[in-house]
Amino acid sequence: MPWIAIIVGLATGSFIWILLDQIQTRQIDKIFGQELQIQLELRARESLIRFERYLASYAATTRLLANYRTLSEYLEPLFWSDTASDPPVIYKDFRPQWLPDFFTRDALTPPSQVLLTDAQGRVREVFQAGSAPLPTAIAQQVPAQWLDRHEIGTVIARLDERLYLLTSDATEDAGGYHMGYLLVLVPVDTAFLAASQRGIDAGRASVALVERTQQRILASLDPSFIPLNSRLSDWSATHVITSQALPEAVNLNSNLLFATLVPESRVERMSRHVRLFERRQRLYAAIVFVIVFTGLIYLVSARLNKVLKRMTRFSQRALGIAEPGFQRDGNQLVLLEDWIQHFTQLVLKAREEMSQRHQAAMRDSEALKAAMMEASLDAIVTLNHSGRVIEYNPAAERLFGVGRPFALGASFSDRFLPDLTRPAFKRLLDRSRHRQREPLGRGELIALHADGQEIPVEISIAPIERVGEHFFTLYIHDISSRKRAEQEIKSLARFASESPHPILRVTAAGLIVYANSASRPLLRAWNTEPGEPLPPDWGAAVAEALNTAQPLERELDIGGQCYSLLLAPIRDLGYVNLYARDITAVRRAEQESRQHQAELVHVCRLSTMGEVATGMAHELNQPLSAIVNYANGCVRRLQSGQGESEALIGALNQITAQAKRASEIIKRLRALVGKQPPARAETDLNQLVREVCAFLEFEINRVGVTIALALPNEPIPVCVDLVQIEQVLLNLVGNALDALETCPEAARQLQISTTLDGAWAQVAVRDSGPGIAADRLQTLFDPFVTTKAGGMGMGLAISQTIVDNHDGRIWAESLIGQGATFYVRLPIAAPSVATNTD
Ligand code: ADP
Repeated sequence: MPWIAIIVGLATGSFIWILLDQIQTRQIDKIFGQELQIQLELRARESLIRFERYLASYAATTRLLANYRTLSEYLEPLFWSDTASDPPVIYKDFRPQWLPDFFTRDALTPPSQVLLTDAQGRVREVFQAGSAPLPTAIAQQVPAQWLDRHEIGTVIARLDERLYLLTSDATEDAGGYHMGYLLVLVPVDTAFLAASQRGIDAGRASVALVERTQQRILASLDPSFIPLNSRLSDWSATHVITSQALPEAVNLNSNLLFATLVPESRVERMSRHVRLFERRQRLYAAIVFVIVFTGLIYLVSARLNKVLKRMTRFSQRALGIAEPGFQRDGNQLVLLEDWIQHFTQLVLKAREEMSQRHQAAMRDSEALKAAMMEASLDAIVTLNHSGRVIEYNPAAERLFGVGRPFALGASFSDRFLPDLTRPAFKRLLDRSRHRQREPLGRGELIALHADGQEIPVEISIAPIERVGEHFFTLYIHDISSRKRAEQEIKSLARFASESPHPILRVTAAGLIVYANSASRPLLRAWNTEPGEPLPPDWGAAVAEALNTAQPLERELDIGGQCYSLLLAPIRDLGYVNLYARDITAVRRAEQESRQHQAELVHVCRLSTMGEVATGMAHELNQPLSAIVNYANGCVRRLQSGQGESEALIGALNQITAQAKRASEIIKRLRALVGKQPPARAETDLNQLVREVCAFLEFEINRVGVTIALALPNEPIPVCVDLVQIEQVLLNLVGNALDALETCPEAARQLQISTTLDGAWAQVAVRDSGPGIAADRLQTLFDPFVTTKAGGMGMGLAISQTIVDNHDGRIWAESLIGQGATFYVRLPIAAPSVATNTD
């Protein structure tokens, strides 16, 4: 394929070039002939102009000579005689002083004679430059027509068979008197013509002066080649001749022609040179043309090839047909034509198929649209440009309560919108028409149901332009339920504002974004406002609630007003809701309850006191009796004079010791009865047990039992209110003694043991009394439960309250007839905790 393209390109290019060359050669020949003629004419013209200039130089030099100061001075004294026969003075060997050598200076051919005439033209003085004799015609008298007083005379005349240039000018003496004329004679010969044509290539052309009527050559640049007196026509075969009239100057001989002769051989050579050059140029141009043409053919061919390949691929891919008989070889253009024909048929067929497919797709689309219209939950209504209904779906029938036959053709705004809404709907329509792209005209309006009920709807309008006509498709969504829900939400939102309890919402950064009116006391206490931050400690609590995602509870006391605040984090939104509750009353009630409880405990203690009063009185009686005895003994010894001081001191020490003992007993009694504020201290539980036993010593003796104490050697540290725990133990041991009294004396046993069980200290009071029935065990610790005649039934209830307050536990185990065991468990004192205050 590339080679074929190149060969075709070369052949076609060469052929076209040869044709073009033929036409061009003819045209060039014509132009060249004209051009040559112009060149020759220019050449002739240039020669003539040079000749004229040369003549003008002579005229100028003559005027210079005639007006030369030395000549005027020379002429001043001269008085030429009027005698006609006087011969002129001839200077031959030397140059007269009135004749400076202007000719040599101006590079002019030297004159053969320079003459001075008088005013009548008679020759008076002659400077003879060469050997040529003065022409006879002017030997004595210069004809008047060659002399002009006011102008320079220039004439070419044939004198004595020779051509002469005669230039004359008037002469004056120093006083301005017209003396005559200065006449310069120059032979117009070969030297003259050569000097006039100086600067022009002599070999290219020859010039000659020709006599007009006879056409004879009077002066020639090259007489050996073109001899004098030969006829000009003799040279027309071998030369290209241009003859021109000499310019019309004063006195110039009009019988002369200036001829320029260029040899034919020279013209031929010039023409050959030019032709050769021009042919070479055209050859180069031809080569370039053929190469470019071949390149173009090659490119076009390659392009065609590409097009064919693309069309093949396209047909395979787009139309699904194989290459239909496309040959790689052969005339590409014919193949292309065949191929385009075939391709066109295929495209037409494909178009037909596509049209059918398109129609099928349209039918499907229509069916789909109809299905969508049918199935749509929203009302869809299509209006024409004047706003009349042209399409109306079942959802629209349901929404408006108007059947399709009644809706079609009706004006939408008149039929389905109340008066007030119509302008808004019109604005929506206009807006949708002027919006080229999204969003559509969309808005909320009130529509009208057939029964007159108003329905809030959201309408979005999609404008459609088809065949220059505007249509509008309206999608109408019933938003009644949404509106109701919005109302609901709004009313729900009022909950917080109407709440009598403070409710606040705070951001993660601690900024208050909402606070209801009940929050004012809190905001005042925090010295902040909605939009401002919480105090730093509360900000930290908010951050903690958000971090842990767990609600936090905090209390806040503002000058006696106590609030409980629940910090509920909403992690997703980064908020914390603060729900506050005024718990001042609750706290007050708790305080009062605690006070009542303390009073009750005190009353109970008094009651216990009453029970142990007898024992206490007996116990107190012992030291008092001892004191009395010792005091009496001392008195007696002092009265009898036998009072030795040593014995007295011993008795007095005994008195002091007994008094201290009595004082201890009273102190303990006062501690039990006295109304003291609750105070906890670390103590040894074993020690407490021992003290209680000592306290009840009289009772124990009275009942006639011995207490078996099972106490470990190591102290059991507990942090307790001594008086209260003593009271608990007094109660338990007292109850056990009461129970033992009901059984035979031999069977009476009482055991008190303490144990250390991990973090717990435990006291067990076991008796061998009648025991407690199982059903009574449940209610044993309830208040006012008693089986005793004078009992209050408060002992165990108060004991339980006391133990609970100490974070401990009290319980009883018993079987009927096998005694009862009461257990008290208390947390052991932590080593670091020395004291604590409730
Ligand atoms: P009170 O001693 O005033 O009756 P308590 O609360 O101390 O009030 O005791 C309540 C009741 O529990 C007693 O009336 C008694 O019936 C019973 N009780 C207490 N301890 C024992 C015990 N060790 N053995 C048998 N019954 C007991």
